[in-house]
Amino acid sequence: MFTDLHSPLQQLKHSYLSGLWVKRDDLIDPYISGNKWRKLKYILQDVIAKRKTHLVTFGGAYSNHLVATASAAARSGLKATAFVRGEKVNNEMLVLCSLYGMELIFIDRGAYKEKHACYAEYSAKHADTYFIDEGGACAEAVLGCAEIIAELPQDTAHLFCAAGTGTTAAGLLQGIQKAGLKTKLHVIPVLKGGEFIREEMSGYVSADDPRLILHTDYHFGGYAKTTPGLLDFIKSFTAKHGMLIDPVYTAKMFFSVNDLAFKGYFTKEEKIVALHTGGLLGIMGMKDKLKD
Ligand SMILES: *Cc1c(COP(=O)(O)O)cnc(C)c1O
Repeated sequence: MFTDLHSPLQQLKHSYLSGLWVKRDDLIDPYISGNKWRKLKYILQDVIAKRKTHLVTFGGAYSNHLVATASAAARSGLKATAFVRGEKVNNEMLVLCSLYGMELIFIDRGAYKEKHACYAEYSAKHADTYFIDEGGACAEAVLGCAEIIAELPQDTAHLFCAAGTGTTAAGLLQGIQKAGLKTKLHVIPVLKGGEFIREEMSGYVSADDPRLILHTDYHFGGYAKTTPGLLDFIKSFTAKHGMLIDPVYTAKMFFSVNDLAFKGYFTKEEKIVALHTGGLLGIMGMKDKLKD
């Protein structure tokens, strides 16, 4: 399952950018989508090396990470348990998790804040458990995401990615630093107050790097928040390019590329790569907003 593969690099027609490309990590797998596949690759190697048999992780009710973990666990013959933030609900994502055999434990927001205590209590009662943090954030995940850089053209001037925990961005920056590239990494936090992403990244890489540029004004109100303008952008982008984007992460990132291009941020010849981190199941959480 986690054999090396290169996701396609697809050129995108754009009114005033000639060198816009999309790294289609969304095409790696439908359920272990995009950056979640990159993150789980070395996590699962570590699980197997440590002879663990039971993944225990955390996430919100619409977490792409939970579906990815559930799917990866089932395909690897591992048990999986998720602590889900908030009251018991049912939705398309959680149905998939359950079908893959993941045990779902709903906990209130207060208890969720004490993730490590939850895990300690659970693992005391169950054998061979392995802790995976929310969103799959860890050093193994960073390593997997760093591998994306070797799959990109060396003359990429600008690389764009969306950020939730900043783990993917940390991996990309690590890859750029190791390869000694001039590529500028543009990170779009999808939460308000996105400066914290630099702090998160600095847990893994030296984030005090002039190649790292955070764009903190494309959160559209915060995590999983949208505006009519963003929803219109999703519809026109998808119809124009035949490429689905998700409202939580990739739409905000693609919007930023467009907006910066409009403002004359790039020169026409520069090679720009937008990392499509997947997450298309996120569309299901917005189906009412996107229907017309
Ligand atoms: C989880 C996710 C992200 C955020 O990745 P981080 O490493 O947590 O910053 C970005 N895009 C998509 C589609 C995701 O599912």
